[in-house]
Amino acid sequence: MEKEKVNNSRDLYIGIGSNLRNPILQLNKAIKFLSQLDKLNDIKSSSFYESPPMGPSDQNNYINTAVMFKSSESPEDILKLLKEIESSMGRKKSKDKWSERIIDLDIILYGDIVHWTDKLTIPHIYAHERAFVLLPILDINPDVFIPMKGFAKNLVKSCLYKEIKKLKNNERSNV
Ligand code: AMP
Repeated sequence: MEKEKVNNSRDLYIGIGSNLRNPILQLNKAIKFLSQLDKLNDIKSSSFYESPPMGPSDQNNYINTAVMFKSSESPEDILKLLKEIESSMGRKKSKDKWSERIIDLDIILYGDIVHWTDKLTIPHIYAHERAFVLLPILDINPDVFIPMKGFAKNLVKSCLYKEIKKLKNNERSNV
């Protein structure tokens, strides 16, 4: 099947998370990788947030952030780029959905695109219910709209997983 082409430049929001080996360093490293890609332009980034793991509690807290780019790449090509960055940063494949991770890069939303395949769901299937996704994208754009779900500023009022702390500039988490 031919890949979906994105003709116009759209706002691409990428969620970034880590809970291993100095997560703040890993987030900064991932942002650097992303910002060096020719295919993604005009980066904007959010604050960093710390929250407890959603799965097993015998792992470190997570640090999350988000970045936004202008892009006209296909969703599949973006996912490929993200997977390449994850593996170059040492992300190991795990069958466990909730396992700890050195880096996690997700496509949160991509303009008005709604994409629903086995391999890729845009908007991200859980974006609307996670504070650690909604708060970072709201930092970047307080009026951000999630297709089929609504405005992030409204969704954040009723979302799950609300235990979250915004890190101050240069604050070092002990995770
Ligand atoms: P993760 O555990 O977050 O690394 O995601 C595992 C798989 O979820 C990826 O390999 C993708 O095939 C799939 N996936 C589905 N939707 C998305 C999305 N919006 N962003 C990133 N990965 C996605």
